[in-house]
Amino acid sequence: MKRYWKRNKLILAVTLLLCTAAALMTTFVSLLLQQVTDTAVSGDMALFKKLLLFAVSYMIMLCLMNYFGSLASKLLVQRMTRQIRSDVYEGVMHQYPGEFYKTNTADYISSLINDVKIIEENYILPLLQSIEVIVMFVSTLVLLLALSPAVTGILLVTLLLMFAVPALMGKLLEKRQDAVSRQLAKFTEKTKDILSGFEVIRSYQLLPNMRMKFEEENKRTADCKFAADKVTALNEGLSDTLSYLCVVVVIFTSAFFVIKGSITMGTLMALLQLSGSFLTPVLLIMENLPKIKSVKPIVQRLCDLADTEIEAEQGRVPSFHREIAVSDLTFSYDGSLNALNHISLRFAKGKKYAVVGHSGCGKSTLIKVLSGYYKDYQGEIFYDEDPLSLLDTKNLGSILSILHQSVYLFNDTVRNNIALEGDFDKATWEQALEASGVSQFMALLEKGLNSPVGENGNRLSGGQRQRVALARALIRKAKVIILDEGTSALDPKTALEIESTLLTRQDLTLITITHSLNPALLSQYDQVIYMEDGSVKDMAAYEQLLENNPSFRNFCGV
Ligand code: ADP
Ligand code: MG
Repeated sequence: MKRYWKRNKLILAVTLLLCTAAALMTTFVSLLLQQVTDTAVSGDMALFKKLLLFAVSYMIMLCLMNYFGSLASKLLVQRMTRQIRSDVYEGVMHQYPGEFYKTNTADYISSLINDVKIIEENYILPLLQSIEVIVMFVSTLVLLLALSPAVTGILLVTLLLMFAVPALMGKLLEKRQDAVSRQLAKFTEKTKDILSGFEVIRSYQLLPNMRMKFEEENKRTADCKFAADKVTALNEGLSDTLSYLCVVVVIFTSAFFVIKGSITMGTLMALLQLSGSFLTPVLLIMENLPKIKSVKPIVQRLCDLADTEIEAEQGRVPSFHREIAVSDLTFSYDGSLNALNHISLRFAKGKKYAVVGHSGCGKSTLIKVLSGYYKDYQGEIFYDEDPLSLLDTKNLGSILSILHQSVYLFNDTVRNNIALEGDFDKATWEQALEASGVSQFMALLEKGLNSPVGENGNRLSGGQRQRVALARALIRKAKVIILDEGTSALDPKTALEIESTLLTRQDLTLITITHSLNPALLSQYDQVIYMEDGSVKDMAAYEQLLENNPSFRNFCGV
């Protein structure tokens, strides 16, 4: 968190300066009060008029100081929250895909929105306010001592009592605040899950069940917040009572001294005013300290997210001129069961590979590890001469494009979903649209390429979405295209056409994970890789494999 204060040190300095000046000016109002009261008691009209004039100009100055001080602090808050949000966003987006998917996206959204808001309200603002009131406190203490050491003594004793309260309450509030933040994240996640399941919920008549689930979580969130608020209420109640008690004690003590003739009426007024501005800062600090302490876990969580970026930043630019080689690769998701077992393979540039095997045998995992989703694998993966571990995995996209079974489309037009901010000439567009099969359904859409696809592409069919995804890869002339059941939503004829087009591209390296065991198609691949239980059982041209490997024959149902 320190770095954010440092990054804004100029505006922080201005804020502190203005707020300090305003605090000092507020304290000195009590001296004005003393003068006016004593003047009233003595009946000096000329002095009274002079004081009035002075008071008016003093108040205008004070108003300006307060305004600019407050403005500066708001500017500071605005900048800091924006920077924190940017850093968290960067951190989240720079994670390894494997890491990224470990956390629900709703949690990230909650961090960016809820947690940053909590930090603004319970950390930045209270801290700034505390600094301002400390100045107020010190200047008041000096004035008080000058006016009446006895009253100052009484005030200090009350003060000690008041400090005991937050010390007792801080830890508890910290725990409950953290629970609130966690519960909010859960609530966001649950709500997102329910909203995303809109269609399933309607078609399976789950509305009452879901309502109950939502209400349950809603209640839990409200209860959690209330549990934290109860501690805050106790804290505030105790502090307020102590502060009233203090004012009563000060009045009686000062009145006693006035009767004895040791202080004037004016001094009584000033003491009363000062004891107010002596306690207000303490009250505020007491309210703020537990708040500031309570956000520690949240600050930690945000900083952890923001720091990911720095870790993932290094690495060489990947190259692919010859081959991608996998040597004795073993990988496990949870550290116990191996999803991949001692796999060794070579994908040569320009060749075409089909990966087949039963569902769950590790085909998708192999592709993900190969393309840098995870870093905790054993064995080696080489892009030409460079081990994957030394490469900047963020840039692997310049070499390979993976098409998953489900495609994410942004809520934008077909054109923008293919171009993705890129700029391509007319010929490239035409080629990509043709080879991906997008041109086949383009004519059916009202606005052609400029038709909107809807939220996550829900205005297109599954097969159309897959074709858009393929066009994305083709228009960038990806050197390696990996289809992870990437044509599964297409009708067999279209799938065959598209795969055949890809198979004729000389310079393209194609890795297809497929469920379709169409001999006409499989025989066009240079190699068929047959996987079983996380291992590569065999790898050869289709006919050869069929001839030599009985378990592959069995798998094909021949
Ligand atoms: P497939 O060959 O069907 O593509 P996968 O590679 O997706 O198989 O899965 C291989 C094994 O790894 C399966 O047993 C699956 O349950 C497991 N698995 C896949 N993804 C994850 C994940 N993110 N976390 C934990 N286990 C996973
Ligand atoms: Mg799979």
